[in-house]
Amino acid sequence: MYAGSYTSRNVEAGEVICREGEPGDCAFLIEQGAVEIMVTRHGAPVSVGRLGPGDMFGEMSMIDDSPRSATAVAREHCRLIVVTNDQLVRRVAQTDPVLRMCLTALTQRLRAATARIAPQGGARHALAQSVEPQQQVKEHAMRQLLLEQELRDGIRHQAFAPHYQPIVSLDDGSVVGYEALVRWQHAERGILGPGAFLSAAEASGLIVPIDRQVRHRALGFLAREDAKARRYGARAPYMSINVAAQDFMEPDFVDEIARAIGESAVAPQSIMLELTETCIIADPALVAAKLAACKRIGVRVAIDDFGTGYSSLSYLHQFPIDAIKIDRSFVQAIEHDERRGAVILLILQLAAELGFSVIAEGIETAAHVALLGDIGCRLGQGYYYGRPQPEASLEASKAA
Ligand code: C2E
Ligand code: CA
Ligand code: CA
Repeated sequence: MYAGSYTSRNVEAGEVICREGEPGDCAFLIEQGAVEIMVTRHGAPVSVGRLGPGDMFGEMSMIDDSPRSATAVAREHCRLIVVTNDQLVRRVAQTDPVLRMCLTALTQRLRAATARIAPQGGARHALAQSVEPQQQVKEHAMRQLLLEQELRDGIRHQAFAPHYQPIVSLDDGSVVGYEALVRWQHAERGILGPGAFLSAAEASGLIVPIDRQVRHRALGFLAREDAKARRYGARAPYMSINVAAQDFMEPDFVDEIARAIGESAVAPQSIMLELTETCIIADPALVAAKLAACKRIGVRVAIDDFGTGYSSLSYLHQFPIDAIKIDRSFVQAIEHDERRGAVILLILQLAAELGFSVIAEGIETAAHVALLGDIGCRLGQGYYYGRPQPEASLEASKAA
């Protein structure tokens, strides 16, 4: 459903890219080359414009679902980015309905104008203006589409794998869990962190297959760790896995988790799913039902980045939550701002009452450890204890 529907296309001079009257199932963004747009007038083809790099054509048919209003012919060798129906429809569907209405109205008006166009002068200028958005917007869109194409290639090549950061007991520094943090093994740019691609992955919906790929790897690692620990009669540290709101909202989310657990044969209790507050409060009734289903299969759930978003303590008792993770901006401020410490203390007291654990994120110094210890925080993670590392490095550091 996600992979493979997005491509680049090379077209030779003289080749017809799309034909007037045909159904339009994709649009084209010119990366390189020149394209002539032709319409039939009184039975004869008439040129209405010439497009170049950065220009888009063929998008109108997708927006208002009508046949192509023009024929596009390559005038020199062209490299085109093909924007599929799936990609555009998803975006149009996500926009505000009023905006969507305006977009459709605009498309229809443009169609009417194109139909009236005389072959020369002002009309040609009018079309060129209307199909050409601002340069910056175009460049941004082009970068975004190219990145999406690379993300799809990455998904196809299984290039998304997690690094693991230890979650420790602040009492003695022993490792109680790991957080799986996605990294992209990019063919040319090396290892990329989520900052380089997460927003594009979310905007395109590709975060869903990426999250699933990461989860598959993390569960494999957990299964191997567990098998080793069992030889000594112990259990492996738990695995904390980030879940994007879009992934969580997929109708088969819980089934997919259950299937992945079955395949990897790990104990469900050793999996903690990290969800953000925004995800939790978006649709409380649906979220409550999904969380209840997560509980039924035995996995645990944590609220991630607590302290950055909605941050209301009032909803915590409504959901079957096992842990909250206090955001690093909050944790790091305790050194200079006593009130932050007081709030963390309050969270700890509430957590004790409601029976969930609290994990402090972003611990970078011994002073952070001491301050958190003073107010009774027992669990944490941060560069002070270890940076996220690939499985092989963790193995090496354990052996050393
Ligand atoms: P997060 O879930 O809050 O993860 C913690 C982030 O803080 C990680 O950044 C980690 O490397 C960084 N970090 C940990 N300890 C410290 C510290 O002591 N100091 C500082 N300054 N930073 C610390 P990373 O790996 O770049 O991940 C960024 C965000 O991307 C994550 O924030 C999470 O929201 C998202 N993310 C990561 N992996 C996944 C994934 O597999 N799926 C989804 N949907 N989102 C992910
Ligand atoms: Ca997290
Ligand atoms: Ca976090």
